[in-house]
Amino acid sequence: MRLGVETVSDLIFFFPRDYFDRTKIVPIAKVNQNDAVIIRGSVTKVSLSKTRGGFSILKAAIMDKTGVLYCVWFNQPYLQKILKRGAKILASGKAQFNSYSAEIELQVREWEIISEGEAAVPIMPKYPLTEGLFQKKVRGIVKDVLSSCLPQVKDPLPGKIKDKYGLQDLQRAIMTLHFPENMESVKSSHRRLAFDDFFIFQLGLLYRRGIYINNVKGIKFEPEGELVSRFLSALSFRLTAAQEKVFSEIANDMSDDHPMARLLQGDVGSGKTVIAMLAALIAVQSGYQAAIMVPTEILAAQHFGRISEMFSRLPLRIDILVSSIGPAKRKDVLERLSKGKIDIIIGTHAVIEEDVNFKKLGLVIIDEQHRFGVVQRATLSKKGQNPDILVMTATPIPRSLALTLFGDLDRSVINELPPGRTPVRTIFVGDAKRPRAYEFIRGEVGAGRQVFVVCPLIEESEVLDLKAAKLEAVTLQNKVFPEFKVGLLHGRLKAEEKERIMRQFGDGEINILVSTTVIEVGIDYPNASIMFIEHAERFGLAQLHQLRGRIGRGAAKSYCLLSADVRSDDAKARMKAILSSTDGFKIAEEDLKIRGPGDFWGQRQAGLPTFRIADIIIDADILVSARAAAEGLLGEDPKLLEQEDLPLKEELRARFGSLLELGELN
Ligand code: ADP
Ligand code: MG
Repeated sequence: MRLGVETVSDLIFFFPRDYFDRTKIVPIAKVNQNDAVIIRGSVTKVSLSKTRGGFSILKAAIMDKTGVLYCVWFNQPYLQKILKRGAKILASGKAQFNSYSAEIELQVREWEIISEGEAAVPIMPKYPLTEGLFQKKVRGIVKDVLSSCLPQVKDPLPGKIKDKYGLQDLQRAIMTLHFPENMESVKSSHRRLAFDDFFIFQLGLLYRRGIYINNVKGIKFEPEGELVSRFLSALSFRLTAAQEKVFSEIANDMSDDHPMARLLQGDVGSGKTVIAMLAALIAVQSGYQAAIMVPTEILAAQHFGRISEMFSRLPLRIDILVSSIGPAKRKDVLERLSKGKIDIIIGTHAVIEEDVNFKKLGLVIIDEQHRFGVVQRATLSKKGQNPDILVMTATPIPRSLALTLFGDLDRSVINELPPGRTPVRTIFVGDAKRPRAYEFIRGEVGAGRQVFVVCPLIEESEVLDLKAAKLEAVTLQNKVFPEFKVGLLHGRLKAEEKERIMRQFGDGEINILVSTTVIEVGIDYPNASIMFIEHAERFGLAQLHQLRGRIGRGAAKSYCLLSADVRSDDAKARMKAILSSTDGFKIAEEDLKIRGPGDFWGQRQAGLPTFRIADIIIDADILVSARAAAEGLLGEDPKLLEQEDLPLKEELRARFGSLLELGELN
């Protein structure tokens, strides 16, 4: 079935999205402009019209004892057949003043036809269906299923947890959510079910982590050694205090014989790469290999170039493994990897392919983890003997999301930028200001700076959007900046081509680089001080922040220019957030609120669980207590062996076993 409801249990946990609270029905005469209301009445008249833009508007006059109100549905002309004269309906929505007809109208959000008998139920559940009419049917089915099956639903939570966290009995909570007596009771029942979602999931994360950390013998590395000290003394700068702190956390983990599983977070430009290099050197000087995995070939090439350079005076064998290197080179790399003739390998997903073998893989560094799923992380680490894992991300992740996505990792945060940076100034460029913006760019490029122009490209395969970047490059080169060299970079170019262009940009041969979001992650060109983002409304906030992080890396004052269509509220909110802050964490919180966790993370993240009812944002405080409860319980019973914890283990296996790869759970 379309809604993903296949079994009786699915149905029991298929909760209403909202309720019609009939105790809150407002007499039509009392409906005021801008009120969000629920009304009840009979249909007296229906009319259908079309706007010039081709939208259809269905209007129905609804009458109760106190008056008449027009209700409006957009683009649902078929409702004309259903909303017959005399039908009794319940409708909720926002009352708005229509200046054209000079009347208040209800813009209907939720509605349904009611029969007389139903009127006695005070609160009606609204299930997440597309057509209001099926509500009644679903309610009927749910009612039947509950009356026959609810008594068999077992409560997996031990009494001690329910007592401690003041949680309702499960059967009662389920019953209440489907058929509440009042809205107050919905709240505590929601809390119970959301707690379960979070608690079981956290239990899984921490359980898995416990197995990994405690039951597995990891590698004891030597943090003090020649490579690290030679590297540190050759660095042209001193580590910031935050880098020092994070490095000592990593060195501690690495010298311990439990495997490290650590997340390194730091805003763009905070200097994570140096830390990753130090970790790799610890591994190599202890006689192991290190693998660094990044999301794109461009980034792999750039890392490879920079790392080779940084390490040029150290006795290290470094190589790169991406899918475009060709079969001969690939074969050679694989052979040297398996014979231990490569110390550090840098690559993309190509590194986790099945036939890639290491002689002695000791450390896995995954950069920009948000592009890799949990499963890929595990695949890579299986290529060694319980290697240490360091996950790096520049996407500031709000705490609630971090707990969900990375709840099985220790966290290190670099919370300061290297000295001498001036924050990027962000400016909105309306159409009228575009010529001035171009003049400004001309001046800066004349003074030796470089520029990124970013065009939106949602899917690398979308031919239309690709053209946008191509066309923009041509226009800028021919019509706007004939005196400068304009380059073009996008995901469809061949790897060598991309490399060549990035090299030209790095060498200053290209002044203005028109690009898609392929430059979003990790790329470092200190001389680029301006970024012009076209159609900024089409990017998410986190993405805009990432993009903006590509500039402001050198000494020059940097500018981020945004052009955007801000007609939608959502776009407005995003532009406001990005214009008013450069703090990645603040922006991320804002983004999560605007978009919700699914979209925030997008399809990049394979590890985001689906919950029955819990919402990472709305229920963030429940998440925090569920996390604490999971930590507490595993502290007492790390392997969930106690009698009263067994049902939890069962529940964990059933719900998140495969997502969390808890195969060994028994
Ligand atoms: P991130 O990976 O966190 O985005 P990078 O490691 O790429 O950041 O560092 C950004 C830039 O700052 C690089 O050019 C790097 O050489 C430089 N850098 C890193 N740490 C320091 C430091 N402690 N002092 C000065 N510059 C630094
Ligand atoms: Mg980086």
